[in-house]
Amino acid sequence: MNLEKFTSSLKTLANWYRKSISDDQKAIFYRKLQHIPGEAFEKIIEDIVENSKAFPTINDIKLGYLTWINENKNRITHLYESTPCDECNGTGMLHYRYFDEKYKYFIPLTAACSLCENWKRTWSHKSRPRMATKAELVKEGYELPPYKRNKKSIPIVTVTEMVDSVADEVPF
Ligand SMILES: [Zn+2]
Repeated sequence: MNLEKFTSSLKTLANWYRKSISDDQKAIFYRKLQHIPGEAFEKIIEDIVENSKAFPTINDIKLGYLTWINENKNRITHLYESTPCDECNGTGMLHYRYFDEKYKYFIPLTAACSLCENWKRTWSHKSRPRMATKAELVKEGYELPPYKRNKKSIPIVTVTEMVDSVADEVPF
């Protein structure tokens, strides 16, 4: 988002919580949050004003952005310019996984595609995961989709299922 949009949203926030923000603080906020598109930022600030009693931290706003991304997944490609890329289908993301021998389940991971800049639509420079190409991931022994369902004949469990199964064993 541009500085103008950011400043006006931050002003709304500061007025609402009756907080004064120094130029230094504003500069830090902007540096950490400028990757958020203006439309999303406005909505995040609205949600915070509606739901939060306290002035948000930078992390609160970043979490708000993750929620916003989740709620707007199918619109995101239209909001940002995307470069065609055969490697990641223009998503900027490469999904992969590995089998954790200790815990006996597949760990799903996501890398940022290093052949295009589409990852910028999802992550900031600081928050982005490792960059890779499919060939690099395969070379390192990772599995790429479409996944063979169950090559180790051990059920694939999600983290939630794991937590649930552990919770079953807790005697209360
Ligand atoms: Zn790509």
